Amino acid sequence: MSAFSVVDIIVAKRDNVTLSDEQIAWVLNAYVSGEVADEQMSALLMAIVFRGLSPNELARWTDQMIASGETLDLKGLSRPSVDKHSTGGVGDKISLILAPLVAACGASVPQLSGRGLGHTGGTLDKLESIPGWRATLSNDEVRAQLESVGAVICAAGDGLAPADRKLYALRDVTGTVESIPLISASIMSKKIAEGTSALVLDVKVGRGAFMKKLSQARELAQTMVALGEGHGVKTLAQLTAMDTPLGVAVGNGLEVTESVDVLRGGGPSDIRELTLALARSMLSLVDIDIDPASKLDDGSAYETYCAMIRAQGGDPEALMPVAKKRQVISATDQGVVSSLDAMSVGLAAWRLGAGRARKEDPVSAAAGVRVLVREGEEVQKGQPLFELHADDDAHLARGLETIGDAITWGSEPFAPRPLLLELVGAR
Ligand code: URA
Repeated sequence: MSAFSVVDIIVAKRDNVTLSDEQIAWVLNAYVSGEVADEQMSALLMAIVFRGLSPNELARWTDQMIASGETLDLKGLSRPSVDKHSTGGVGDKISLILAPLVAACGASVPQLSGRGLGHTGGTLDKLESIPGWRATLSNDEVRAQLESVGAVICAAGDGLAPADRKLYALRDVTGTVESIPLISASIMSKKIAEGTSALVLDVKVGRGAFMKKLSQARELAQTMVALGEGHGVKTLAQLTAMDTPLGVAVGNGLEVTESVDVLRGGGPSDIRELTLALARSMLSLVDIDIDPASKLDDGSAYETYCAMIRAQGGDPEALMPVAKKRQVISATDQGVVSSLDAMSVGLAAWRLGAGRARKEDPVSAAAGVRVLVREGEEVQKGQPLFELHADDDAHLARGLETIGDAITWGSEPFAPRPLLLELVGAR
C-alpha cells in the first residue's frame, strides 16, 4: 500500500493546492523506482508548468532530485571550488577558456558538463575534437585533477541526480521543458550535487536562447540564485545577450581553435569580454583578488589549459580536424547587417554536422560556420559573410539552405549591442 495517491497529488497541483514536503519526496522517489508511471508524472509536470511551485515546494523538489543520487565531496581541496553554468548559446565556448583561467588565478573549477542537443553545442563535444581527450573520469580522478591542475571539464557521471535524467527525458517529449521552476530544479540539482562551494550562472536571453525575454531570464536567474543560496552554494547570475553568435567560430573543433586564441591573449573581443566578466564574478565569490586579464596575457591560463587537456589524455597542441568541404558565402550587394541571428547560425552549424538530433547521434569535429561579419557592420558587395565547413556535399547543402536566413539587411551602421545585461545576486 502506497503512502500517498499519485492521483491526489496531480489533482492538488492542478487545483493550485500546495504540496507537502512528504508528497514531493514520495512522488519523486516513486517515479524513479517505477511505481509512478510516465503518464502520471507527465500530468503532474504539466500541472507544474501551469501552476508553478512555491519557493518551499521548489526547494523540496530540488532536494529530492539531489537525494536521488550521489553527491561529490569537494571539501578538503586546497583551493576554493567555484563553477559556472551557462543556459546555452550559439558559439558559447566560454567554459573551455574560463575553467583554466579561473584555475590559473588560484581556484578549483569542477565543470561537470553535458553534450549538445539541437542548435546549441555541448562543451564535451567541443573537447572531444582533441585527439585522445577523455570525457569520462571517476570521482577520485576529478578530485585528484582539481588538486593537481585546478580545473576539470568532464562528463557528469550517471550517479549525479539520476531523477533529473529521467524527468528531463520525459519533459523533452511532453512539452514541459519551458517552466522556470522545473528548469531551475534541473540545473541546480546537478550543480549542488557536484559539490561546488560557489557558482556563477550565465543566463542567456534573446533570439538564440531558451529565454527570449529579459523579464523571463531575470526570473529564472533569481529562482536559481535563491535555490543555490538556500543550499549553501554562494550563487550569482549574469544575464547576457544571446541574439547573435558569440565570437567567430560555431562548431566543435573550430571553437576549440578560437578558445586557444583567447587563452593566448588574442581572439574575438566579445569572447574575451564575457569570459573576463564571468571570471571576475567567480573569483569574487571565493575572495580571490586577482585580475584574470593578466593570466590571459602572461600565458598562465594557456599553460593551465594544456595541463588540463593532457591530464585527460589529450594533446593540446594537436591541430583540429579540417573539413573536406568548405564554402564561402559572400554579400550579393552593399548593405548594413541589421541583425545576425544566432538561431539560424546555430541551426546551420547543426545541419552541417556539428550537432545532433538524437542523444546517440555522432557529431563532426570539423563541421561548422565561421561568422565573418558582425551586427551593425557595413558590408561591401562581394565581401565574405560566412565560411561553411562540412565533411561531405550532402551536409554542406543542408547548411547552405539555412544560413541564407541568418542576416537581415538595413542601411544605418551601429555599434555592437551590449553583451552584459544585468547581474542578479547579492555580491
Ligand atoms: N538544462 C537543464 O539541465 N535542464 C533544463 O531543464 C533545461 C536546461
